[in-house]
Amino acid sequence: MGFSTDCVHAGNAPDPTTGAVSVPIYQTSTYVQEGLGKNKGYEYARTQNPTRQALEENVAVLERGTGARAFASGMAAITAVSTFVKAGEHVVCSNMTYGGTYRYYVKILARYGVDFSFVDTSDLETVRRAMKPNTRLVHLESPTNPTMQISDIAALSEIAHRGGAIVVVDNTFASPYFQRPLTLGADLVVHSTTKFLNGHSDSVGGIAVARTAEHVEWLSFVQNSSGAILSPHDSWLVLRGIKTLAVRMERHEFNGRAIAAHLAGHPKVQKVNYPGLPDHPQHALARRQMTGFGALISFELGSYEKAAAFLAKLHLCFLGESLGGVETLISHPATMTHASIPEQERDRLGVTPGLVRISVGIEDVEDLISDLDAALQTL
Ligand code: PLP
Repeated sequence: MGFSTDCVHAGNAPDPTTGAVSVPIYQTSTYVQEGLGKNKGYEYARTQNPTRQALEENVAVLERGTGARAFASGMAAITAVSTFVKAGEHVVCSNMTYGGTYRYYVKILARYGVDFSFVDTSDLETVRRAMKPNTRLVHLESPTNPTMQISDIAALSEIAHRGGAIVVVDNTFASPYFQRPLTLGADLVVHSTTKFLNGHSDSVGGIAVARTAEHVEWLSFVQNSSGAILSPHDSWLVLRGIKTLAVRMERHEFNGRAIAAHLAGHPKVQKVNYPGLPDHPQHALARRQMTGFGALISFELGSYEKAAAFLAKLHLCFLGESLGGVETLISHPATMTHASIPEQERDRLGVTPGLVRISVGIEDVEDLISDLDAALQTL
């Protein structure tokens, strides 16, 4: 089936009892059993829930995985994936990974005897050098936040596999519409479903997808044992959101390309980071690895004062954290998402005081450009 058909139909079989075309929200904690050892495949809702299972089936198909397991947040999905690593083992992780992932790794998992190297994963040689005999996991994010760096998933998977490690790709920014890491050689994919998959800024959730049955089995065990499951209602919201993923992503990207090109030609903007622009350092790789460039853009205004003045003048673009919703959200990484990183390190990573990040929504692009232009004009 085509991707749009899968968005609508995968996992979304009509309800066998009533024929309802929308998978029901099975809001139950347990299931009546017919007798000892006799049940309909459902015993307790942490372990099995039909609404959650419908979502898991849907996303597994979209990501071309064997199975998926849904969690209470993107961080809960990342936490579940981290259980593939044991004490005494080593993880290579992108130095531009989501701040919450970095915090979980260094402040929590490191306490349990796991060792980390945070490196520039856009440089293959750097990753090759970072691999150790005990490296078990390579954690990639592509594109990254907020500088939109791209890493070569196929080449890095080869390096990781040669070293006996598995590869997880946080595919939150691209969504399976534009990038399918499992088809490029990765072993696992994680999403914050909070973002493009749900797409409507009204649910927090996460999902992990695995290529092999063995890895799906472990994720099931972890999901049931640690218990950070996605609720039936949130599962339903994400399942509904995904039905329009293909059309939303098309529009997100159409608007994203237009805004990136407009900002790149604007005299008040010093630099634009968008993989779709020919001057992006990994533009050719993005073209090869992705089927579109997405809707996340960051741009440099030159100083904190300019960024603050610009953000204060916007009306249509909402100032806020998060991304991937139908409404355009704009943020200031240095004081918001990346505030916990020391200033020097932020500067080194390109997260400067004048950098602004935009998650372009699906509004009329002319309206968005007018809003941005009006605010830029005041600088
Ligand atoms: N991964 C990425 C790339 C993110 O941007 C985020 C959140 O912003 C997460 C993971 C964590 O997801 P959640 O907020 O759903 O826990």
